[in-house]
Amino acid sequence: MITDRINFLRDELNKLGYNYYVLDNPLVSDFEYDKLFAELKELEENHPELVTPDSPTQRVGGISSGFEEVKHKYRLYSLDNTYNYDELRKWYERVEKECGKGIKLVCELKIDGLAIALTYKDGTFVQGATRGNGIVGEEITQNLKTVKAIPLKLFEKADVEVRGEIYMPKTSFEKLNEENLEKGEKPFANPRNAAAGSLRQLDSTITAKRDLSMFTYTAIIENASTMPETHWDSLQYIKKLGFKTNPNIRLVNDINGAIDFCKEWETKRFDLDYATDGVVIKVNSFACQKELGFTSRAPKWATAFKFPPEEISTKLLGIETGVGKTGAVTPVAILEPVLLAGSTVSRASLHNFDEIKRLDVRVGDRVLIKKAAEIIPKVVKVVDTEEHEKLPEYIEPTECPVCHAPLEVREGEVNLYCTNEHCPAMVKARLEYWVSKDAMDIDFVGPSIIDQLYNLNLVKSPVDFYKLTIDDFLKLDLVKDKSANNMYNSIQLSKTRPLARFITALSIRLVGKETAELLVNEFNSLEAIINATTEELSNVDGIGDKIAKSVFEYFHTDANIQMINAFKEVGFIFENRQVEKTTELQGMTFVLTGTLNSMTRDEAGDKIKQRGGKVSSSVSKKTSYVVAGDNPGSKLDKAQNLGVIILNEEEFLKLLNISLR
Ligand code: NAD
Repeated sequence: MITDRINFLRDELNKLGYNYYVLDNPLVSDFEYDKLFAELKELEENHPELVTPDSPTQRVGGISSGFEEVKHKYRLYSLDNTYNYDELRKWYERVEKECGKGIKLVCELKIDGLAIALTYKDGTFVQGATRGNGIVGEEITQNLKTVKAIPLKLFEKADVEVRGEIYMPKTSFEKLNEENLEKGEKPFANPRNAAAGSLRQLDSTITAKRDLSMFTYTAIIENASTMPETHWDSLQYIKKLGFKTNPNIRLVNDINGAIDFCKEWETKRFDLDYATDGVVIKVNSFACQKELGFTSRAPKWATAFKFPPEEISTKLLGIETGVGKTGAVTPVAILEPVLLAGSTVSRASLHNFDEIKRLDVRVGDRVLIKKAAEIIPKVVKVVDTEEHEKLPEYIEPTECPVCHAPLEVREGEVNLYCTNEHCPAMVKARLEYWVSKDAMDIDFVGPSIIDQLYNLNLVKSPVDFYKLTIDDFLKLDLVKDKSANNMYNSIQLSKTRPLARFITALSIRLVGKETAELLVNEFNSLEAIINATTEELSNVDGIGDKIAKSVFEYFHTDANIQMINAFKEVGFIFENRQVEKTTELQGMTFVLTGTLNSMTRDEAGDKIKQRGGKVSSSVSKKTSYVVAGDNPGSKLDKAQNLGVIILNEEEFLKLLNISLR
């Protein structure tokens, strides 16, 4: 019985490992792989007589073909890992037992990329190799030379071997996948696979085109001006030699400090532009590391805490369709509930019907779902199973799931659209958008209130909100005087929102918050926007032909003009209430990151725009300043890399004041 289970686990882990390491195409999530691995490890620990040298528990990684093999001078190990804090404490107890009390630890982010070893002789890069099985790797020196974060010459003539992780920034990964999809090629499953695939190109000009970078995290110093005695000092030293190290590291006094670091990064990791799947905790003193030594596959002086999984597989029970404010009909996956990143997930996005076709998702499949912070989980792929082929293919709907009107395809768009402008689902979605934070920001009026107002025929168009009386609200379920008053006041108050918000709230196709602001800044009044020609509209910087056409058509549709007039009748005054603009910051582009103490990011953005500056959401060489508040995100790293000027809050306020003079 036990041998059967052990054999099954080994076969399964070998199959999964082959797909992950050699084909760069993982079949299941890391969490699921680690669970099977932990089970095998436990069985082998209880039955040491059944351990074989070729068991996955005795080996490191995998090796793929196509490159020259190279034997590593120093072995590259894997890391033991855990998903829970109790086990981290147990690991630290073992460390203290061996080395005594008060052992300091270094906490580093575990970068989810590809381990490589670089050899430098007399300060010159001579060889680079993948980890492979830890003993033998693949020689990929030429490809690594294309990675800009790898120095070809060090600032000192040292003999060192360093290890680090090659990774692809998340933004570059998304861009690469978009390009692959456009070319009809298969997208990469995640940034790690994209980095691995890019690095193992036989043609290094292809590698050079991919945006790869590297964080160095280990140094074996053979001959240099400094011979550090701790891991922390060695990291500071290799930074001076010219290597890129990760800025998010911390030296802590004990395991409590390490656990604090893990907890902090469990959520903060989502702000980074690179994938990290955990924290690596290492004993700081080299003397202690030596005392602790290695197991057959991992050091005893280090361990990895893995973050709760962002990916997991589950069964697809059905595909539901919903209708959005533009009439787009979108499919939603109904799933067998699973726990993912701390919450139970039973629905996931499938984007559109093309995506279902591309993934060949069929009801009854096992699917891999993924979640990043605040983002709705999405179906990433179908897990390869024998059942898949037996399931019927998904058939696209031809009529609206709510009003049964026929669906249409619009030129150049992937979605299917309901053709009935009065479709109840579409109307309600627009009303919900009207009250949302991005639009008119009306408190106390949520989806269930809107549903009732619609069903009672009280609100069919946004303008109807402003005709409601307190008595109307009292007709709704469970609504008493106080909340009726709150809703009424909140709706009336929204009449004073800036013009750009009103235009956003109209749900004009292709016009979101930013486009609405561009329109208002250019034309200053609703009247002027309504009267603008498509040419005048598309002359505005940031507004293309498609948007111009959509805006023009919207304001040249009778029903919409009637609605605008109705808004005037209920007390709307359409003028741009923006403050007088000045020009001190003209020609300058700002990117805001982190939290400011004196104002919100939106307010800071307004102040920049009032002074003629521009605000952008991403850092590039063209960015004039990055304003960094507390807890800045990856934009700060990017600004540092590009040499963009970084302002703290004080400096930013000073700049605004100076420019006011
Ligand atoms: P690992 O990735 O869990 O840990 C070891 C590696 O961590 C090192 O080799 C190094 O590359 C990396 N690392 C990143 N940052 C580091 C830092 N700051 N310091 C030190 N090392 C750092 O181990 P592994 O042996 O590379 O791979 C095993 C893991 O791969 C499994 O635990 C599993 O999560 C995943 N895997 C998944 C599948 C799958 O099908 N999904 C299959 C095989 C393996």
